[in-house]
Amino acid sequence: MSRQISRRVFLRAAASTAPLFTPKLFSEPSRAHADEVGQKNETPSAIESGWIDAHVHVWTPDLRRYPIDKSRYSVRDMKPPSFTPQQLFAECRPAGVQRVVLIQMSFYNTDNSYMLDMIKEHPGVFSGVGIIDHTAVDLTRQVRSLAAAGVRGFRISRRGQEVNQWTGDSGMAKLWETAGNKNLSICPLINPSDLEVVDQLCTRYPETRVVIDHFGRVGISGEIIPAELNALCRLARHKNVYVKTSAFYALGQKNPPYKDLLPMLNRVVDEFSPQRLMWASDCPYQVQGKHDYESSIALIRDHMDSLSQSERNWMLRDTAEKVFFAKVS
Ligand SMILES: [Zn+2]
Repeated sequence: MSRQISRRVFLRAAASTAPLFTPKLFSEPSRAHADEVGQKNETPSAIESGWIDAHVHVWTPDLRRYPIDKSRYSVRDMKPPSFTPQQLFAECRPAGVQRVVLIQMSFYNTDNSYMLDMIKEHPGVFSGVGIIDHTAVDLTRQVRSLAAAGVRGFRISRRGQEVNQWTGDSGMAKLWETAGNKNLSICPLINPSDLEVVDQLCTRYPETRVVIDHFGRVGISGEIIPAELNALCRLARHKNVYVKTSAFYALGQKNPPYKDLLPMLNRVVDEFSPQRLMWASDCPYQVQGKHDYESSIALIRDHMDSLSQSERNWMLRDTAEKVFFAKVS
């Protein structure tokens, strides 16, 4: 315990000497932009000072314009049937969330067009994490064109390929290498049993930034298993590994206000530091049934007593801003 505390104090001290981060990707949004995003009474800086939700999926019932991948999904899988940016804003803006990282929805497979169109329609508000076919011969060109359209990371998950095949896959190697070269992130959606494979890849590609979804799903079984949490925390030795503290509705007891997750949260704060953690809701799933948006953000904002205000800012905005809203070459 004392080792963790001293490590945390050290990390805090190190962070305080770092230059202040300033957002680069989006310069001061214009008045026209503020109008377009429906914020006539807010100054552009209100967007930048608001919180960032680092993981949300949007989709539209307009299947003619944006067809889903019918080989894997049917309309019945779209629950709720619609979650557009307008529906998202109704949830997130009352909580002070002004920017959001959109995660390409699996229904659309590698057709990122709905997400890209929404990024374009709401300049300065969204960043994106796309899904790409890592076996494509023109992978580098696809990465470049997605990055130009606002994509800052690539989601990898068990999609027709077992996770333990990733270490021997040449397309996956190229994706990790290309992302590292272009300052883009690899975003694994994995189970605790997959953490070891990701650990190996992090060792092989130390310069590639990796953002683990939802604590690596530690706690999805209903309890936080210490060996699984330890496996997640072992990744902290790789300086470019970040963790999304997110999807509270799906972890542990799965009951708002989710305070049973506080020991896990405090542990990852000690191991990674708030500068490598980012809060996210995983909407629309966080706003179904007994779960709601406010309970998700409140766990970090109101219930983590050990955080300083600056550390809270990192978890609720600054880490996601640095990782997902930065300019890339
Ligand atoms: Zn998600």
